[in-house]
Amino acid sequence: MLGAVLHGPRDIRFEDRPEPKITRPTDAIVSLSATCICGSDLWPYRGIQPVTQPTPMGHEYCGIVEEVGREVTNIKPGQFVVGSFASSDNTCVICRHGYQSSCVHREFMSEAQSCLLRVPLADGTLVATNDLPPKELIPSLLATSDVLGTGWFAADAANVKPGSTVVVVGDGAVGLLAVLSAKQMGAERIIAMSRHASRQKLAREFGATDIVSERGEEGVARIKDLTKGVGADSVLECVGTPESMMQAIRATRPGGYVAYVGVPHGVELDGEDLFFAHVHLHGGPAPVRRYLPELIRLVLDGKIDPGKVFDLTLPLEQVAEGYRAMDERRAIKTLLRP
Ligand SMILES: [Zn+2]
Repeated sequence: MLGAVLHGPRDIRFEDRPEPKITRPTDAIVSLSATCICGSDLWPYRGIQPVTQPTPMGHEYCGIVEEVGREVTNIKPGQFVVGSFASSDNTCVICRHGYQSSCVHREFMSEAQSCLLRVPLADGTLVATNDLPPKELIPSLLATSDVLGTGWFAADAANVKPGSTVVVVGDGAVGLLAVLSAKQMGAERIIAMSRHASRQKLAREFGATDIVSERGEEGVARIKDLTKGVGADSVLECVGTPESMMQAIRATRPGGYVAYVGVPHGVELDGEDLFFAHVHLHGGPAPVRRYLPELIRLVLDGKIDPGKVFDLTLPLEQVAEGYRAMDERRAIKTLLRP
């Protein structure tokens, strides 16, 4: 079987790998209909997160179940399924509180840029549709697996409610889908911070009412101008750098909410800044599994079209070009067809 393996900075290869097999009775093997490249894959690709050995890549997936282990009872061969980037039993006390991405049995998926994928804890990790979905909905269903689920968590964690004023920091795919999520949750005003024309356009399609292209202190000043001088009710941080995190905290009104879903790189917070900011902070790896049934339903009902974030589709064997296009910001997000 062929799959994507990262060997070092900007060295991604499509090469032969062992075919996944059922190794535990709770596993399933899924034949992937589509997979994709995540913004977080660019950290190791760029060498910012060191790669010490050849590492299989990919954690976003949907497809048809090929085989299940003998203890799998809900998921059946032939079903179309979507799963999260983190496996979960969906029964432990943390899962029951809705934080499946911190399940006591969690494993992070990392071999999904391939044709076949082994999914641990299949009953708790995967969500099946009643029928095979039409082909044109595959990109949007794939988006629920991580990028939409993460944007949705950002909006939920930042307490977005009908009438809220929301700021989204970051115009990557997660940021754009955080805009869509805030819109679905009834936000009245959605300010997208973006400097790129094509991304600004998509942000507006997804529901952004204002665009701020300034960054840092200037960006914060623009947000204050737009919010009667106080800052936004909810700020969704979808980048993960020290600058974006401070921008998010400073753009939030006292008593407001900051959600952070960008994987942090070098973020350190000053206690005194935090103390006087007077904001709620909530973030982390999104518990996508909590939201999957609802998000899949919204896609199947034609209520949302998150698949629009995929502006490049390539056959899986051209995965290296997919990474290059995202690295050079020629593409927002690359969908790969096995
Ligand atoms: Zn659990």
